[in-house]
Amino acid sequence: MNTESPPQARAPEAALVLFSGGQDSTTCLAWALDRYETVETVGFDYGQRHHVELTCRDNVLAEVRQHFPSWGKRLSDDHRIDLGYLSALGETAMTHDVAIEMNEAELPNTFVPGRNLAFLNAAGALAYRRGIKILVGGMCETDYSGYPDCRRTTIDAQETALSLGMDRPMHIETPLMHLDKAATWALAQELGGSALTDLIIEHTHTCYRGDREHRHEWGYGCGDCPACDLRSSGYGRFVEAA
Ligand code: ZN
Repeated sequence: MNTESPPQARAPEAALVLFSGGQDSTTCLAWALDRYETVETVGFDYGQRHHVELTCRDNVLAEVRQHFPSWGKRLSDDHRIDLGYLSALGETAMTHDVAIEMNEAELPNTFVPGRNLAFLNAAGALAYRRGIKILVGGMCETDYSGYPDCRRTTIDAQETALSLGMDRPMHIETPLMHLDKAATWALAQELGGSALTDLIIEHTHTCYRGDREHRHEWGYGCGDCPACDLRSSGYGRFVEAA
């Protein structure tokens, strides 16, 4: 069932969503489509080990256009930016074939230093060119408190830096910042009903290992990497509470 909000609830501005094709950024995309008149998307190729998420993002955009016609009308251009230099800066479990483990600073080695800052910087520059003042990102400090560039204090500083550096107000919306994964599933349900949660299960990608072979009730993945753990336990709590 499609539970899109009535048009009068929508702000007239345009927004640019940092969209990876994962559960979080797909929920952010729905949140933005529910709220803004025009929504553009941007994805980054940073030499990630698994290109599967870049394929998933094309599929998610096509599915949104097909199953949510009033959102589809507001869904505008998609942009892809090459940030391949991130993988040249050093090995992490996201860009090289090494095991996922914790480093000496208690950060998982899936952490790519400066990645979110680079994403926001590139997205801010693109938004400037497109005349857009609102960025939307799925950064969250609840589940990934180990990622310092996902914390709201970092985002606030980046918002200030972009606004000063481009001499134009730039806002960074982070609708998932204080939600856990169960609440993120619930937000998707609230925004687009089971049509949206079904789309997220079938077409978004979260697994750190790039596994698209094993299908679970919460979607595809290896089932035991940290990203699959979060997604599956969040889904379990979401279903229990429903
Ligand atoms: Zn996995």
